[in-house]
Parts: sequence; structure tokens; C-alpha cells
Amino acid sequence: KAKVECPPSKSLLGDSSWNLLHSMVAWYPDRPTIEQQTKMKNFMEALAMFYPCSYCAADFQENQKKSPVKTETREDLCIWLCEQHNLVNEKLGKKLFKCDLKTLDERWRKSSDPDCNK
Ligand code: FAD
Repeated sequence: KAKVECPPSKSLLGDSSWNLLHSMVAWYPDRPTIEQQTKMKNFMEALAMFYPCSYCAADFQENQKKSPVKTETREDLCIWLCEQHNLVNEKLGKKLFKCDLKTLDERWRKSSDPDCNK
């Protein structure tokens, strides 16, 4: 049985958060209503305010000021989030992800990798 981290480490928290966020935007509507767009903007803003790592949250707020969340289409939102994640990857010296919808959908929405759902 996997060891439970109490409280979760920065790495586990980050990985869990990105899993939720990329999956959530992968299923965002192609043509969202104004209400859906507003809710998504509020969600990302609140996440940057309450993310439970103070310097991660501060940077996420700063990055959202420079590049406000794009909610007009699913593609816009998926690419925006990918770029936000890449800013963190860059900061941590991790590999950058290719931010186009086809690659993102393959990873987060309809994987053809037979090992992915094991
Ligand atoms: P993760 O970066 O957690 O990525 C999980 C999976 O997402 C990867 O395996 C890959 O398949 C996929 N992926 C990678 N990049 C992308 C992308 N650009 N688009 C789509 N999919 C992608 N940690 C810090 O130490 N300092 C920080 O300042 C910091 N800020 C953060 C801010 C936010 C908003 C979040 C959610 C997390 C932050 N983290 C921060 C955590 C950090 O991003 C990682 O989650 C953590 O280091 C664990 O990394 P990982 O190697 O497990 O992969």
C-alpha cells in the first residue's frame, strides 16, 4: 500500500493539483457561456489566492496578472494552463511540455498510451 503523506508534500500537492486542473480544462466546453467563463476566471483567481504554498501562490498570482486566464474556448484555456505550468517547470528546471491542443488532449483527455490507464 502506498505511504500516505501527512500533510502532503509540495510535490504531491503539486502533482495532484495539476492532475485536477489539466483534466478539468480538458473537459471545459468548446463554446462556454458567459457564466461558465466567469466561474472559471474566479476559480483560477481563487486558486492563486488560496494555493497552500505561499510562494507558489504569489508567483501564480503574478503570472496571472501578466497573462490573464483565457476562457473564451476550451483550446484557449488548455493552452493557457499549459503555459502556466511551463512557467513553473522552467523555474524548477523541469522539461517543458508542448502546448498544443492535440498533445494536451492526448495526455489529458483521450490517451492512446496502453500503459496510461493501468
Ligand atoms: P508535475 O509538474 O506535477 O506535472 C504532472 C504531470 O503533468 C507531468 O507528469 C506531465 O505529464 C504533465 N505536464 C507537465 N508539464 C505540463 C504542462 N505544461 N502542461 C500540461 N501537462 C504538463 N513547486 C515548487 O517547488 N515551487 C513552486 O513555485 C510551485 N508552484 C506551483 C504552482 C502551482 C499553481 C501548482 C499547481 C504547483 C506548483 N508547484 C510548485 C508544484 C510543481 O509544479 C510540481 O507539481 C511538483 O514539483 C511535482 O512535479 P512532477 O515532476 O511530479 O510533475
